[in-house]
Amino acid sequence: MTERLYYLDPYLKEFTARVVRATDKGVVLDRTAFYPTGGGQPCDLGTLNGIEVTDVLEDGHDVIHAVSSPVEGEVRGVIDWDRRRDHMQQHHGQHLLSEAFVRVAKAQTSSFHLGRQGCSIDLDQNVAPVDIERAETLANMVIYENRPVQIGFFGPEEAKSLPMRKPPPSEDRIRVVTVNEYDCQACCGTHPRTTGEVGVVCVTGVERQKATTRVHFMCGYRALTEARENARIVRSIGQKLSAGRDDLEKAVDRIQADFSETRKQLNAAERKLAEQLGKELAARGRVVVEVFEGKGIDYLRAVATAVALTPNKVAVLGGTGETSSVVISRSPDLTLDLRPLFKDVLAPIQGKGGGTAHFVQGGGPGGDVRAALKVAEEKILANLGA
Ligand SMILES: [Zn+2]
Repeated sequence: MTERLYYLDPYLKEFTARVVRATDKGVVLDRTAFYPTGGGQPCDLGTLNGIEVTDVLEDGHDVIHAVSSPVEGEVRGVIDWDRRRDHMQQHHGQHLLSEAFVRVAKAQTSSFHLGRQGCSIDLDQNVAPVDIERAETLANMVIYENRPVQIGFFGPEEAKSLPMRKPPPSEDRIRVVTVNEYDCQACCGTHPRTTGEVGVVCVTGVERQKATTRVHFMCGYRALTEARENARIVRSIGQKLSAGRDDLEKAVDRIQADFSETRKQLNAAERKLAEQLGKELAARGRVVVEVFEGKGIDYLRAVATAVALTPNKVAVLGGTGETSSVVISRSPDLTLDLRPLFKDVLAPIQGKGGGTAHFVQGGGPGGDVRAALKVAEEKILANLGA
């Protein structure tokens, strides 16, 4: 059984110990300050005799340290303190936030995730945005009050009398983390001496479902680096839009409005151009075949419709680009039904489509639009007769 030094002193950064057993996963020490992955908190990293510890995991009562090369005998362990402090800030911040949600919205935390990028808790209710903000504020007030955090061990009967946020696990010896007059929770993780060390709890995102809510958050130094990055992005966007932070939203609204107006005008101009082009193409012959590079189906439809305004015309138009499109339109005075022949036309572009007797359209990922138009032209000429 490995004695867990971090249980009573989570600030222990260096320690000496003895290797008692080597396994295929790593070495077991008689005592350790390395926290093994568990309870939502990732493991500590660091070194044993200067050799890198790459993973720390529980094996029953033992703690296994995976190392990058073999170690034996007496060892001096050093914890990666930046990583541990980060985990302590995130994990304790989670306790404060979880209790805040109980107090504000009677919402219990059903799971906790502490990742490299961000942390999240899942709540067992759909929590309103206003309550999320209230809970965030409450957790931060408890941080500002810098309340003492106590760690204690209790038997199962004793634990029953404690005001636990959630029922404790059924163990002989239950470790309990208490925030003075605020929170009481069974937990094996590493926690600071006072709430103030969490620095800040910042909700960074919310995913609300019918009956649950996932709350993303960051605490302490992570929140500072996040705020720095956010400020940098805001400055950079502000420079691009020549707007200060407070005017950014208005500036984006203006650009979006301008863009949609420009798009409308462009579409109208393209439609006019297409109609003009349709008239010109109609003058060429009875069956007009044309490929438009980089043009989509809307454009083809406009041109084809314009061609068919002139009596006794069939427009067979193709468009290329990310996908291939084919549009065929005929004048109302012709009787040819375009639908039966369209399937064969679409084959070279692996396309799908359909339409009416006088108008069909389709598109596909395939590239050979010209082959598709050739099939169409042949079939149409054969069906129209001379
Ligand atoms: Zn915990």
